[in-house]
Amino acid sequence: MKYSARIEKIEESKTIAVSTEANRLTAAGEDVVSFGAGEPDFPTPAPIKKAAVEAMEKGYTGYTSASGLPELKKAVTNKFAADYKIKYSTEEVFVGNGGKQVLFNGLSAILEAGDEVLIPKPYWVSYPELVKLAGGTPVLIETKAADRYKLKAAELKENITEKTKAIILNSPSNPDGHFYSNSELEKLVSVLIKHDIFVISDEIYDKLLYDKQEFKSMVQLFPDLKARILVVNGMSKSYAMTGWRVGFGFANEDWIKAMTKIQSHTTSNVNTIAQYASAKALENNELEKIIEKRKSIYQKRRDLTASLLAEIEAIDTLKPAGAFYFFIDISKLIGKKIKGEQIQGSLSFSDLLLKEDKVAVVPGIAFGMDNFIRISFALGEERIKTGIKRIADFIARLE
Ligand code: PLP
Repeated sequence: MKYSARIEKIEESKTIAVSTEANRLTAAGEDVVSFGAGEPDFPTPAPIKKAAVEAMEKGYTGYTSASGLPELKKAVTNKFAADYKIKYSTEEVFVGNGGKQVLFNGLSAILEAGDEVLIPKPYWVSYPELVKLAGGTPVLIETKAADRYKLKAAELKENITEKTKAIILNSPSNPDGHFYSNSELEKLVSVLIKHDIFVISDEIYDKLLYDKQEFKSMVQLFPDLKARILVVNGMSKSYAMTGWRVGFGFANEDWIKAMTKIQSHTTSNVNTIAQYASAKALENNELEKIIEKRKSIYQKRRDLTASLLAEIEAIDTLKPAGAFYFFIDISKLIGKKIKGEQIQGSLSFSDLLLKEDKVAVVPGIAFGMDNFIRISFALGEERIKTGIKRIADFIARLE
């Protein structure tokens, strides 16, 4: 019996071993500080939960159209127009099971075997695997710490071939929280415009941008490119709704139709109750206040984390402009030992840190960089202090 060669090319999650072990230790009663999760530690706001109950009580429990509940598509396009001054029609929006499925369907709709998709490094863990699943070839582009890991026009130009079909950009980014200024994007677009390349703009962290910086959607900045941009967003991060699985895609009608075709034969619609509650959330301006308040809490945690990490000499990190992660360079620690066990890369660093000091982090190899670890600051200040103190103690004991 043979399994699909396409699936054999997909890598298993490199982060699973560390998180499984962290869960096992926690279940066994150990006090593990977990910096691993890529999700808000806040609950879904109460009015959204109430709306879900209301949906069930009203009997909204059947299928919706595959591309999404009409009320939600209307709410999401209205909200996008209010936030970013671009009006999409309800035929130009797609509701998927999280941003992740929007990305998968979006890629599947455009890729032929051998098509290349440009992905700057470090990248969100799923991008290369989603490209492979959709039959394409990921082309990973090196970026520099000095450029804050942002892609430069020259690097983009060098990597475009006749096979390039799309590029994935993510700003604010996971794993390092960089954010492209308008002029930086303009330089990239001046290269892209000369080629027939689709642009997938992952804007899932749009509401988590700090220091009063203003987020603008890619399509708002470059309306002339609207026909070839897929904007990806969703409820997960801004509304603390990771488990509800509601994501959005905005693109031209043909692209959306193709994505819907895939959805109609794979998952049908997104959970109807979650869609109904999401529509109510997007229509409720009061929730903006909750999002803003949470953002200021994240910003405080970010500043605390930055100041604590700055005291650890052996590591380097850059303060994130958005999202809720620090990407930490551990190059200087590779080769060192603790109790005779050597740190060979991000996986062994993470394993040993968990074993010795009960701190869970995500190995940077998951994001394409093995001399890094990622920590999330979506946890309370006391836990952040305890966790970073443990990391500092661990590093101090390395020989
Ligand atoms: N894009 C980025 C950069 C992410 O970090 C995530 C989640 O971690 C997603 C997309 C997908 O989120 P969801 O599928 O929950 O909407």
